[in-house]
Amino acid sequence: MVYGRPCAVNIDPIEKKPLYHFLPGTEVLSIGTYGCNFGCGFCQNWDISQLAKKDGVVAGETLSLNIFLDRLEKAAPEQLAERAATNNIPSIAYTYNEPTVWTEYAEDIGRAARKQGIKNIFVTNGYMSPENTASLVTWLDAVNIDLKAMNDDFYVKVATVRCGRYWITSVAFMKPASGWK
Ligand code: SF4
Repeated sequence: MVYGRPCAVNIDPIEKKPLYHFLPGTEVLSIGTYGCNFGCGFCQNWDISQLAKKDGVVAGETLSLNIFLDRLEKAAPEQLAERAATNNIPSIAYTYNEPTVWTEYAEDIGRAARKQGIKNIFVTNGYMSPENTASLVTWLDAVNIDLKAMNDDFYVKVATVRCGRYWITSVAFMKPASGWK
């Protein structure tokens, strides 16, 4: 549904992701779409992560087919990777909303970016299956898992998920699957 339809594409300092020991002092091309598998009451990006759930529509203008196809063309994975390359930006972050809900689009951008020597970063709530985790580490270079609390109650009450334990799963699987230090 959101493939090829980013709602936010910005250049940020890498420290804003926040990553402090990965390409420090560089810029990162940050990309986000709509939706999230959590519903945190404190979400700073609620207008892109939650509005579709509330209103049943994806926010934004209604586009004619030609304009939509034109936008899609500009947001094709290869073109986003090219945008980073031509601006000498060494990494792309999948961020703002939860990238797990648009894994397919992120992966296509990421694989195109790798061909240009650009690194890939996930900023995620970590709520994903072991299968998705094992697939992600084949093309990601860094991950920021946003740990929201150390107990299930918080996840259930504030983030509105059934079980908070999945973040443990992704942390536990990601490191050995990737071979990262
Ligand atoms: S996981 Fe992140 S993007 Fe999703 S609702 Fe919570 S704070 Fe917002």
